[in-house]
Amino acid sequence: MNRVRFHLSQVRAIVFDLDDTLYPEQAYVFSGFDAVGEWLRARVACPIDPAARMRELFLAGERRHVFDRLLAELRHPASEQLISEMVRCYRTHVPHITLHEDARVALEAWRGRWRLGLLSDGPLVMQEKKVEALGIRPLLDEIILTDQWGPEYWKPHPRGFEVMENRLKTHGAAVVYIADNCSKDFVGPRRLGWRTVWVRRPGGVYCDVPPPVGGEPEMQIASLAELDR
Ligand SMILES: [Mg+2]
Repeated sequence: MNRVRFHLSQVRAIVFDLDDTLYPEQAYVFSGFDAVGEWLRARVACPIDPAARMRELFLAGERRHVFDRLLAELRHPASEQLISEMVRCYRTHVPHITLHEDARVALEAWRGRWRLGLLSDGPLVMQEKKVEALGIRPLLDEIILTDQWGPEYWKPHPRGFEVMENRLKTHGAAVVYIADNCSKDFVGPRRLGWRTVWVRRPGGVYCDVPPPVGGEPEMQIASLAELDR
């Protein structure tokens, strides 16, 4: 990796991952905590700021049980129904997120020069809200949210990549996939012979996850601006 360099003039289509590739995922998480905190305050006595506490828990490394731990600290029973309502609030809230500056510049500059696509996993309603909030629909030729077929088709499943090739009418080494998560993002595109680029920003959630065999990215960048040089 890294020794292989290629220029964008060698490809015909560029496909992006969404979370932590085009915008900082942590901003979405904190936006969700604000929505859940407000929702909770209307229903449960909160002597502390719930959103601030959830941010602290997240920054301390808690990922899966933030809501349970918050309710425990509030001495409120974490019933299955309450948790599922908090999850629904989180996933359906209108997020306050913005593109990484280099992603905004790249999307605007590359629009029209290459076919541009977005391929992302995650609960469908949540990913749709992110796409809307970022205002990127007009900048992209194709958007594929794999959850439309069910979570079994999330990456590393190749279906999303195969459908993307057909829609963009471009195949194999003429397509590049730019993504942040080595544990799942590059297996599918590599199987189809796509070029692969790992955008590894400081502080990214999946910055240090090692790739599986066959899922190693071809090159690594810290900013999309590096590709345009
Ligand atoms: Mg990602």
